[in-house]
Amino acid sequence: MPQISRQKGDKHMDSWIVQTKGLKKYYEYGGNLVKALDGVDFTVREHEFLSIIGKSGSGKSTLLHMIGGLDTPTAGEIIVDGRRLMGMTKDELTIFRRRKVGFIFQSYNLVPDLTIYENITLPVELDGRHVDMQFIDEILEVLKLTEKRNALPGMLSGGQQQRAAIARALASKPAIILADEPTGNLDTASGHDVLGLLKAAAKQFQQTIILITHDHDIAQLADRIVRIEDGRLAKEQILMVQNRSSTSTDLSASGGDGYAEK
Ligand code: ADP
Ligand code: MG
Repeated sequence: MPQISRQKGDKHMDSWIVQTKGLKKYYEYGGNLVKALDGVDFTVREHEFLSIIGKSGSGKSTLLHMIGGLDTPTAGEIIVDGRRLMGMTKDELTIFRRRKVGFIFQSYNLVPDLTIYENITLPVELDGRHVDMQFIDEILEVLKLTEKRNALPGMLSGGQQQRAAIARALASKPAIILADEPTGNLDTASGHDVLGLLKAAAKQFQQTIILITHDHDIAQLADRIVRIEDGRLAKEQILMVQNRSSTSTDLSASGGDGYAEK
């Protein structure tokens, strides 16, 4: 599988883990051409927590699916953790998805007759890998699920079920967590609680998070927020955030003036 050496940054640049170049996704729909993504140049740093906001239909999920290898672009490049996705065979993409990315969606998709522990370890087992039980215990602890490990999903609240889905995404030790409106089914308090724990877990296990959210308070938990408008990154970006003292140039998401390109 093609390997790209990741750029190590100079003093203003961290190394990056995700990069897209000229990314486009066009759909034919009812005789019309829908430009779901229309030229996205985008970079995410290793260990960064990035929020993506934007109106419904602006292309957020399409972008996340492309980065996670769930869908293929019409044009452009995606490089994730040193690998060019376009060069991969179907089998390589499947392995990439299993090992490099953890997906979290609005629906929890837990198997109802498996315990929380069994749900969490299922993808690792399906991948034929050894389950690191000590690591799973740590994940359960961070996500405050230790007491629920032998419970069935139906016995848990929505927030607890989403925490279990997060634990499942973390269990395979992915480099990147891709979360698409993960709090969409939760009340505000549980949503914030879940996201706080996701953030803590990602920090502890050194993961990168790309999070799509409608909730501006939740978006604020990130290191950086970008807005998508009509399949493009909005020019005016919302620059962030608490705990970070960077200039706007440092935080630019697009290639050219930030850490994306050299
Ligand atoms: P968001 O997640 O920001 O709400 P999406 O990425 O889901 O937006 O969709 C972006 C645009 O692409 C929308 O106009 C949507 O209708 C269109 N789209 C998404 N998937 C398909 C598809 N499979 N076929 C046709 N159009 C699609
Ligand atoms: Mg969406």
